[in-house]
Amino acid sequence: MSATYDEVLISLGLEPSTLPRHAKCGTPSGYNRHYQRGEKPCQDCVDGRAAYRKAYRAAPKDPSRLPPITHGTSSGAHQHWYRGESPCDACRDAYNTACRPAKRADARRRRAAA
Ligand SMILES: [Zn+2]
Ligand SMILES: [Zn+2]
Repeated sequence: MSATYDEVLISLGLEPSTLPRHAKCGTPSGYNRHYQRGEKPCQDCVDGRAAYRKAYRAAPKDPSRLPPITHGTSSGAHQHWYRGESPCDACRDAYNTACRPAKRADARRRRAAA
């Protein structure tokens, strides 16, 4: 997601609330603008943002915009899940290996607490 005009102004130390209205209500940036001004988003913005998020989730993800999967790592497993697929064997193994020490530490903590 690119920075909004407000975010750019904030990063420059400028006050976004002095800006003319530029983000229309009923859009995600309209929704953000309400928050940036310390307002409660209006119903148009709540609806607009919900519709946008729904459309975004429904849209097929463009694989060319995703970083390549680092197979054989636990983050590779997460990348598979992010794409809505189940991890390949190498990634699943790496994920299981990465999780096992955490589980052992958990059991140790439980024993220590008992
Ligand atoms: Zn609004
Ligand atoms: Zn993989």
